[in-house]
Amino acid sequence: MADVAGEFQELYGRAPEGVWEAPGRVNLIGEYTDFNDGLVMPLALPHTAVAAVARRTDGVLALHSADMDGGIVRLGPDDLVPLSGGGWAAYPAGVVWALRAAGHPVAGADVHLSSSVPTGAGLSSSAALEVVTALALNDLYELGLSRPELARLAQRAENDFVGVPCGIMDQTASACCAEGQVLHLDTRDLSLRQLPFDPGAHGLALLVVDTRVKHALGDGAYAERRAACEAGARALGVRTLREISFARLPDALARLDSETVRRAVRHVVTDNERVERVAGHLAAGDPRAVGPVLTEGHASLRDDLRVSCAELDLVVEASVAAGALGARMTGGGFGGSAIVLVEAARTREVADAVRAAFAGAGHAPPRVFPAVPSPGARRIATA
Ligand code: ADP
Ligand code: MG
Repeated sequence: MADVAGEFQELYGRAPEGVWEAPGRVNLIGEYTDFNDGLVMPLALPHTAVAAVARRTDGVLALHSADMDGGIVRLGPDDLVPLSGGGWAAYPAGVVWALRAAGHPVAGADVHLSSSVPTGAGLSSSAALEVVTALALNDLYELGLSRPELARLAQRAENDFVGVPCGIMDQTASACCAEGQVLHLDTRDLSLRQLPFDPGAHGLALLVVDTRVKHALGDGAYAERRAACEAGARALGVRTLREISFARLPDALARLDSETVRRAVRHVVTDNERVERVAGHLAAGDPRAVGPVLTEGHASLRDDLRVSCAELDLVVEASVAAGALGARMTGGGFGGSAIVLVEAARTREVADAVRAAFAGAGHAPPRVFPAVPSPGARRIATA
């Protein structure tokens, strides 16, 4: 890992008051559910955003990223204007804005960031950046905010300051996940529960396959799927689709005229049910049984919600054909990453099969790495 504290010293001419890290995440199951008050089940990756931070008394926020060109971005108290662009700096700046807007006395800070979370791969590098900033300021300014509260403020930063309409999953995962566990998060009441998920201990591996593609279609499509879900809830006379139980699904589908809306509703209601089924398998100590549920979830995202793409479909097809227990796209789709659950002994065979399938289809090589369920955000050094 980079010497973030040493780099801070060089940039700002003093030592940081501490160093914090916050992970990226993958979502095991429960996709496009978190804006429907639904269920999700993320786990933290070993890849983290690391921040060295020290307080300032003059109200200035100074931001620097080792991963971006350009020098230190300096923002005075009047410079924190929502939706004013600002590139990458808007993510940490938005956190300071959200903290201040909630009445928390954050005077200013020098911040140096460095992250190993791949960006734009559907692994929530943005949430990692927000959460690491929020946790550092919470500690340094002794704000006493809980992990879920920090996640909410980080989400507010991304929604209202950066202008990305994301749900609460990514920030909650980064703030609240635990090593060797998945987080069972109910986005209706924000209740959360840790469930044991340690693939290595069961002779399994969970692979992340980053397709390295991002299809332009994805930008408007997220908003479209959201709109279809909202239209479904309106047509069914409920506040959100969470109120449609799996048992009531056939009845609900029969009452919908629009095929697009019907498919969106079917995806959301069945994916909530899949989260519960996976939770049952994990609670029963049977992670192998999770595999087919993942593949089923992929079919729903591909055929009903239609948010997959050729590269993601190919990961699932090739890995399952090569003996994986199950696989699915994860995150928003139209590129980004897929996850593959596989017997540890077959990891290489399955990864090679996916690479060969990509080469055969003329796609650029994907990036494959194991998702070891890792700790959530934490302080890793004091001054
Ligand atoms: P994802 O969260 O899926 O990786 P997003 O588009 O939501 O994708 O967030 C990616 C953005 O987050 C980047 O374009 C950049 O603005 C910001 N970002 C991520 N990592 C870093 C980093 N190490 N330094 C600066 N900005 C970063
Ligand atoms: Mg993001």
